[in-house]
Amino acid sequence: MKSPARLLLAATCTVALLSSPGAAWGTNKPKAEKTKPVDCAKVKCIALTFDDGPGKYADKLLDTLKKTNSKATFFLEGQYVKSRKAFAKRMAVEGHELGNHSYTHPHLRDLSEEKIREELTRTQDIVKQATGKTPTLLRPPYGELDYRVQAIAKEMNLPIVLWNGGSRDWATKNEKAIYDEVLKNAKRDGVILMHDWVEQTVKVMPKLIAALQKQGYHVVSVSSLRGANKLEAGSIYPVGSEKDDLAAETPDSPDAPEAASPEDGL
Ligand SMILES: [Zn+2]
Repeated sequence: MKSPARLLLAATCTVALLSSPGAAWGTNKPKAEKTKPVDCAKVKCIALTFDDGPGKYADKLLDTLKKTNSKATFFLEGQYVKSRKAFAKRMAVEGHELGNHSYTHPHLRDLSEEKIREELTRTQDIVKQATGKTPTLLRPPYGELDYRVQAIAKEMNLPIVLWNGGSRDWATKNEKAIYDEVLKNAKRDGVILMHDWVEQTVKVMPKLIAALQKQGYHVVSVSSLRGANKLEAGSIYPVGSEKDDLAAETPDSPDAPEAASPEDGL
């Protein structure tokens, strides 16, 4: 038990600390934010988006994003959020944008409305539970849509985000090919599709972001792009991306990411 004298000393120290000039935070101007929001109306921006995660290599990718002062958008698959909660949490804490990519990666067009709703709602719920944040965007698996998916997205207050630049990372699994493909498809306010379960994508990322930055790009979340900050629920972004050949740019199989094992249960 503390003696009265020790308690008095502790109280005195606290008062001294509070009244020292260094502690007078209230009168000092707050320090400038380390990362100022990027204004994509003024500077060249690009959004890197990662589907099907949190993937096995998400941690390493997050390290790179942090080091390069970049923000990404993650379209999360509910079943992997469940098995890699800590990765999802870290994405949210470090200011990345979270989107819904269904729970089990089905072809939504083949499902009943009830099942579509279930896939999306379960994912909203598990992401909220793991990160404290509810996804604000939807990317349906394979980029496949129909009027029912759009209506349900609207009902759930989710704008739909597709992409206008692929990386074919899941197909080539080759660092140089991924690097070349992304740089070929890079354009101002472009939305690039990648996967954080592809090891080569995560490995090439420091080099790729350095090349993009050298070309003047700021790597930002989708909603920071020009014209994307107030997307309407159920609407499709980027404009013109709702084409039928998108599925060719995404992995065929939902089980492409290695099945989450108990050891991955972070
Ligand atoms: Zn996917």
